Amino acid sequence: MKKGRITCKSERELVYMRDAGRVVARTHAELAKAARVGVTTGELDQLAEDFIIRQGARPAFKGLYGYPATVCASINEEVVHGIPGPRKLKDGDIVSIDIGVEMNGYYGDSAFTLPIGDVSIEALVLLKSTEQALWEGIARAREGNRVSDISYAIQSYVERQGYSVVRDYVGHGIGSSMHEEPQVPNFGLPGRGPRLNKGMTLAIEPMVNMGTYEVRTLLNNWTVVTLDAKLSAHFEHTVAVTGDEPEILTRL
Ligand code: MG
Ligand code: MG
Repeated sequence: MKKGRITCKSERELVYMRDAGRVVARTHAELAKAARVGVTTGELDQLAEDFIIRQGARPAFKGLYGYPATVCASINEEVVHGIPGPRKLKDGDIVSIDIGVEMNGYYGDSAFTLPIGDVSIEALVLLKSTEQALWEGIARAREGNRVSDISYAIQSYVERQGYSVVRDYVGHGIGSSMHEEPQVPNFGLPGRGPRLNKGMTLAIEPMVNMGTYEVRTLLNNWTVVTLDAKLSAHFEHTVAVTGDEPEILTRL
C-alpha cells in the first residue's frame, strides 16, 4: 500500500484512468468468452497477457509484490490471489478473475466471478449477491460521503443475504499506483474514515463467503482460501467520485 495522502485526480488524469480501465474491461470480456470447461487458468492468463500487451498496456499484477502472473484466477473456495496454472476449469466451478493493468502511468483494477458450465443455484445466488453488494457499495461512492459508508452498505447487504464479508483483504484507492490510500474495507459502521471528494478513484471489491468470513493462505504464500472450504465470490470495479453519480471506469 502506497503511503501518503489521498489524491484527487484532475480531469486530465481521469482521461488516463478511463483508458486503463477500458483495457481491463475489454480483457475481462475476452476471458469471459474463453473461460469454459476444460480450459486451464494458465491458458486464460496467457490470453489476458497477450491481449493487454496488444492494446499498449502492461499487466500490472505481474511482479507486484512478486506476484508471478497477469491475472488472479481463484476457483471455488479460493477467495483471491489464485495463481494461474495447469488446473482445468470443471463443470460447476466458479472462478474469480481479477485483472489489473497500467497504461501511461495510470492503473485500472476489476474482478468478476464467472460460472463454468452448469453451476448450482446456491453458487449462482452467491455470484448475483456479490455483484449486487458491489453496486450497493458503488452507490455510496459520492462526494460528501465517507469511506465507511461504502463499507457499511456492502456489509449490511451481504449479511442480509446470509453470507459474510472477508475482513483480511480490502478495497483501495488507485491511480498512478495500483494500491493507494485510502483502504476501502467491506465492513464497518457508517460515517467514518476520510470524506469522499470529487476526483478520488477507488477500487471497490467485496469478497463474499458462503460460510465463515475467516480465510487462510495456502503454502504457495499467495492463494487465499476460506477456512471452512465453502465457496467465495469477488466482484470489483474501479470508480471515480464525481460531483454527481459515481463513474465506473472499468466498464465498457
Ligand atoms: Mg483486483
Ligand atoms: Mg483491487
